[in-house]
Amino acid sequence: MTVIGIAACRKLEDYRQAILHVGGEPRILDTSMAAAAAVEGIGGLMLTGGDDVAPALYGETALPSVVGAEAGRDEFESALIAAARARNLPIFAICRGVQILNVACGGTLVQDIPSQIPGALAHSLSVPQHLPYELAHEIWIEKESLLATLLRERIVDDGCEVNSRHHQAVKAVAPGFVVSATAPDGVIEAIEDPKMRFCLGVQWHPENFFRTGEFRALFEGFLEASQILKS
Ligand code: MN
Repeated sequence: MTVIGIAACRKLEDYRQAILHVGGEPRILDTSMAAAAAVEGIGGLMLTGGDDVAPALYGETALPSVVGAEAGRDEFESALIAAARARNLPIFAICRGVQILNVACGGTLVQDIPSQIPGALAHSLSVPQHLPYELAHEIWIEKESLLATLLRERIVDDGCEVNSRHHQAVKAVAPGFVVSATAPDGVIEAIEDPKMRFCLGVQWHPENFFRTGEFRALFEGFLEASQILKS
């Protein structure tokens, strides 16, 4: 069975379930591990949600609304990303995951959408006021992208609806990456590295749909790539 390394976070269960539902074997990777050892024997790396990446990592001072992640998480996940990319392991990054992926590869973030992008859509619907899988806004998907290929059966008029629980987003896209989806207000909702077989980050939470399968194709594609590349 293909082992998928999942970066530890406070709400792991839906990530685990999403991998189990497509036949993968989750292995939780936490900051007590050395990154090089943590990627040994995994077929793919999944980066998960959580609090904010330290703005110092992209050369900015933190705004008051920035909430730092657990101690050591930024450094551990940056090292996981470097180790995985050096081995050409597939990476699937979700929410905070796409943010740390972008920063670790040289990009920057919008620190706080509500205060830095006037007129932006409501991207930070909070639980439990809203259900985790409540659809929040549309995204527009680039036609010639891995994301479009994976979601082809769900896309209508070049887009689809997604859930949304983030107050940050990708700003300057990391060198070598391309934007594969944006919200109608211009907020970047997905990036990918076309040089890699599978290196995709999305700003919404596809794992919250594991019961009903709206975004199952993303996890299937990730697992399939991880099987091809297993060491
Ligand atoms: Mn959003």
